[in-house]
This record gives sequence, structure tokens and C-alpha cells, in this order.
Amino acid sequence: MRSIPRPSTLKDELQVLFLAVGSAFLVLATVLLYQNGQASLRRQLLASASTAAEAAAALVSLEDHRSLRSPQDLNSRAFRNIVQSLGALRRANPGIVHLFTIAPVGKLGGWGVVVDMGGSAPVRDERNLVRGRLPIGAPPPGSLPASLIQEGMGGTAARILDFANPSRARAVAVTSIVTPNGASVGLVVAELSAANLIEEVRLLWYVSIAIFLVGLVVSVFASNLASRWVTRPIEELSRGVDEIAKGNLRTRVSTHSRNELGSLASAFNLMAQSLEASQARTDEQQSLLRELHRLGSQVASTLELPRMLETAARGIRAICGGEEAFAGAMGPRDSAVRVWTRTGPGTLDMQGWETPADLLEDVLGGETRLLVRQEFAAAGLSMLLDRPGEYAVAAPLRVSDQPIGVLVALGSRGQFRAEAVSLAALFARQVSAAVGNARLFEQVRAVDRSKSEFLSIASHEVRTPLTVMKSSLDILVSSPKFEYTTDQRQLIAFCQESVDRLIRLVKDILDVSKIEAGVLSIQFQPTSLNELIEKCLFWVPQLPGGQGIEVEARLPSEPAMVLADPGRITQVLENLISNAIKFSKPGGKVTIELRSHEREYEVIVSDQGKGIAPEDLERIFGKFYQVADSATREQGGTGLGLAICKGIVEAHRGKIWAESALGDGSRFHFALTRVMDTPIGDGAEGQISVDTLLSSLRKASARASRAA
Ligand code: ADP
Repeated sequence: MRSIPRPSTLKDELQVLFLAVGSAFLVLATVLLYQNGQASLRRQLLASASTAAEAAAALVSLEDHRSLRSPQDLNSRAFRNIVQSLGALRRANPGIVHLFTIAPVGKLGGWGVVVDMGGSAPVRDERNLVRGRLPIGAPPPGSLPASLIQEGMGGTAARILDFANPSRARAVAVTSIVTPNGASVGLVVAELSAANLIEEVRLLWYVSIAIFLVGLVVSVFASNLASRWVTRPIEELSRGVDEIAKGNLRTRVSTHSRNELGSLASAFNLMAQSLEASQARTDEQQSLLRELHRLGSQVASTLELPRMLETAARGIRAICGGEEAFAGAMGPRDSAVRVWTRTGPGTLDMQGWETPADLLEDVLGGETRLLVRQEFAAAGLSMLLDRPGEYAVAAPLRVSDQPIGVLVALGSRGQFRAEAVSLAALFARQVSAAVGNARLFEQVRAVDRSKSEFLSIASHEVRTPLTVMKSSLDILVSSPKFEYTTDQRQLIAFCQESVDRLIRLVKDILDVSKIEAGVLSIQFQPTSLNELIEKCLFWVPQLPGGQGIEVEARLPSEPAMVLADPGRITQVLENLISNAIKFSKPGGKVTIELRSHEREYEVIVSDQGKGIAPEDLERIFGKFYQVADSATREQGGTGLGLAICKGIVEAHRGKIWAESALGDGSRFHFALTRVMDTPIGDGAEGQISVDTLLSSLRKASARASRAA
């Protein structure tokens, strides 16, 4: 069995409720209407019948009626009198289906017909309605109830008989024919056809049904309207809540109704309005914070103080508002803010501007404040009195609780944002950190510069006596004037070796200092890598351990031309090859390969030594880094060779890297841009002409020398 779907919305529920109540009223009203109508129609018919009977009783002569007792009286004058009187009545009333009088006969209380006028209406059922006239003395028709006769004795009684049977239905009225002194001499019986009544009742039934159906349709509409009327504000509110939940805070609901729902809608609108306003405030704050973050990053993106201050001045104005803005800073040992930058309309000479830090501290006390014009001088900002602004948001810049400068946004009160002071304080904190970093960086750079200078000077100073020592030792060994025992010779050889090492170390330190100071001098010239590698192979056997190692070079037949300083690239090659030999096992093999690529030449020095662990691969190019194992230490060295190689290769705009795995040997690569002797623009895309590259590299090298 299918279940009836339950109403799912308030509107449906209300509609069903309204419809049910409406229908109940409708049924009640229809039934009442029908019953009242029917009763009234019946009353009318009964009244007509009674009127007819009473009229007939009034017309009948008492004397005449009393004298008629046997069928022979038919031709009597009395009979004719009564027939005449009643005939007129019968003709005047076409609804009468039977009109007759009866009178008591005999002593047993029976009744006999006196005058039968027949009927003026057509008789429908001959069996039940008397068509012909009954003779005088005949018993009354059996369809006339005895109880009705009894009632008629006391006045007039009327009843509708056989109403359910349309062919027999009739209204029967019985009334007494009384003498002036109240004695009854008989009864008049008037039967009126109920056919019309039945028709009218049927019509009434149809009308009632029609009214019911129309009422039903109207009540469906009305219930729909009523439920809508009730639920529309609720639906509207619910839609509003949905929209708010989706984030559409501009949603409003209509507030036409004046009842509680209307108040609820007004409250909803107020809530949406305040939500929208607070969302707008949040959005604005978020965008301000984003802007703050962006400006903070911009300030921190440079380490140059003037540029940093320029960005800071623009930032404070963007964040706070105002007509113009200033950013000032002081040097590490200064007591006043003397470096000023400004942003705003027009230009301004800020030469000689000076804000004593103690005045700034006195007025601001390390806090960001909105200053009025009268306070400018006290805060050390008297130069701003020439400017048009009446108010200034002043945010001190501080590092380690010490003042280092100030940010100022100047303008009229209305030009500043409500949160200008708190935002300026946040921004000032970012700028302070950036200025602090810039100062730190400057200090580190200065220390580094002086360290490199010291190393360079010290190395020079050390190299001279070392060179003297080396020459003296060489003379001692080679001069025939001196004769030595074997032990003495051995000792001199140790000294020579140590002096050589020291000279190498000093040379390396010098190179590293130059690289760090960016002043390594590089003499660029077209250079053939093949030639440099071949030259290196000559002295390989002289290297310590070089005799036991096989060294193989795989070089292309055509020259690999690069723009390079041959001396420096030879230094790189020597370093890589000597490392490869140094870290090879006896009988191992070292390969030097030269590969040609589209834009560069690549040199690979590989060995079959013990290799380098992955965690050391990146670090071996750092200064003084040696892989921490005893084997490495045993081989000697300074830990500077690869750092110098990196510096030299990068000064050539090339790259250097290593590949290795423990136990699998090492491969050191470096790549330099190849030079094609072809001018740019003749189809050899990406290749650079010798002249172009040479001139650009010379310019770079000249710049580096100037900087030194
Ligand atoms: P060093 O003078 O100590 O050789 P380098 O800068 O030339 O200084 O090398 C740094 C360290 O890198 C070396 O001490 C060594 O541990 C490691 N190394 C360099 N070349 C090789 C190689 N071919 N095989 C294994 N380890 C190497």
C-alpha cells in the first residue's frame, strides 16, 4: 500500500490545515443550507395544503354538509352547492391532486366520504391517488393516515406523505368543518402534489453540491494564499539566512509585515548590516595588513640605507595617509637623525635637517604617537613647522632599545586613517628590524674587508722572507762550496719541502682573499683548453705520487676555445689533477676528459680513489674544508684548493661541481662558455663572438680592479 507523502514544509502543513478546516466548515454550511432549504420548501408546501384545506372548510355550508349521507344525495341541491363552492377553489389551485370532505359515519367511529371534488393536477399513480370521485358514504382512501384524521379534528394538520417516492409524494392537509359553536361536522382533506417540492429539493441538492465544490476550490486557493501569506516572511528570512551562510552579506529581507515576523526581519536586516560592516572592516584591515607585509618585505629587500628609507617613507604614507611622509635614520655613533628621505608632492631641500635622538625619546618615549603641531619642536621636528600639516604620526625606529631613526607621516587630522598610529607602530617595527639588519650587514662587510686586507698584507709580508729562505736553501744545496753529510742534506731537504708548503699556503691564502674581496685579476684571452690540459700532463710525473698513477687525457681533435685566463685555468686543472692523484690508490687511473656542448666546454677530471661522501660533496668547495678522515689528513693540503678553483671558475662566469660516491672514485667537472669566432646575428643563436665576450669580460675585470 502506498503511503501518503507527509507535508514537508511549513507552507504545505499550513495549507493542509487551512484546507481541512475550510472543508469542514464548507461541509457543515452545505448540509445546513440544504436542510434549511428543504425544510422551508416543505413548510411552504404544507402551508399551501393547509391554506387550501382551510379555504375549502370555510366554503363548505354546514347545513349542506350535514344533509349529505347517502349515495342518493348526489343529485341533491346541497351536494351541488358544495361542489360549486369547492370547484372554484379547486380550479384556482392547480396543485390540488385531491380535494374531498369526510364525516363520521355509524356509531363505531368510522369515516365516510361526503363530497369528493377529485383533483385539478394530473394524477400520476392511479393506484394510490384517487382519480375519480368517491361516492358519498365511501370510506376515505386507505393512503390517508388515521392519525392525520385525528389531528385534523383539533384544527388543521398537514403532513408530507411518501416523500421518498416521487410518483406518490404529496402534502396532505386535514382541517375541521366546525359549527359556530365549535362542533365539528366533518373534515376537509386537501392533497397537494409534492412533485414540485421534490424537483426543488433536488435542485437545492445540486445547488448545494455546486456551492460546496466551488467553495472547495475557493478554499484550496484561499488556503494556499493564507499559508503563503503566513510563510512568505519565514521563507524570506530562511533565504536570507542561507545567503548569509554562503557569505553574501549584502542580503536583506523585506520588512512589510508589522507583526512579530516583521520585527524579526528588521532584526535580521540589522544583523546583516552589522555583519557586512564588520566584514568590510575586516577586509580593510586584512588588505592593510597585506600592504603592511608587502611594504615591510620591500623595505627588507635592500641593505642600502637610503633606498630602505625611501621605501619606508612611501610605506608610512601609504599605511597612515597624510600629505607627505619622512623617514630619517642616524649613524651608529650619531646622536641625531641626519639622514632624511621624503615622499610627497613637490621637492624639498632637507640639507641640515637634524633631530636629536634624546628629544625624540623625550616626547615619544619609544611609542608611536599622533603629535599636534605644538609638539613638533619639542620632539626635535621643528623643521616640520614649515610644512602644511597640522598633525604628525611619528613612529620611532629602535634597535635593541636604542633609537636609530624615525618615520613621520604629516597631514591634517582627516587625512589619517583611524588605525594610523597602531599600523605605523607595526610598520616601524619592521623598518627597525630591516635597518638593524642593514647596519649589521655593513659591520660584517667592514670586518670581512679588513680581514681580507689583513690577510693580503700579512701574506705579502710572509712571502718575502719565505722566498729569501727558499733561495738561500736552494743555494745551500746547489753550491759546490758546501759539503754535507747525508743527514745534513736530509735536513735541508725537509726545510725546502716545508718552505715550499708554506709558500703554497701563503699563495693560496692570498688567492682566497682576492677572490673574497672580488679583486682576483683575470686576464681574459682566447684560450685553447686542449693546450692547457696537454701542458699539465707534462708535469704530472713530477707530482708527489704521480709516478705510480696512469693519467689518460681524452681530448677532441679540434681546439676547445674559451675566453679565459690561461694561468688561472691551469691553476684549476693542476689542483683538480693533483687532488685526483693524491686521493688515488697506487696503480689507479686518472682520466681528463674534454667534452664539447652546444654552449660550453666541459672538463672532467675523474679518479678511481675512495670517493667522497654525499654530505661532503657540497662542502669541499668551502674554505679550509677537508673531509674528516685520517686518509685525507695524511695526504696533506690546505683545504683551500677547491675554494680557489670555484672562485676562479666563477670569475670566468663558469660553473664547477663534483660527483662521487664512496668507494666509486670522484669526478670533478668545470664548464666554461665556448667561444665561436662568429659574429652574433648570423644564425648561430646563443653563441658569442670573441670580440664581444672579450670586451665584456675586460670591462668586468676592470670594474673589479677599480673596486679593489
Ligand atoms: P686540499 O688541499 O686539502 O686538497 P682541496 O680544497 O683541494 O684541499 O680539497 C678539499 C678536500 O676535498 C680534500 O681535503 C679532500 O678531502 C677532498 N677531495 C678533493 N679532491 C678529492 C678527490 N679527487 N678524491 C677524494 N677526495 C677529494
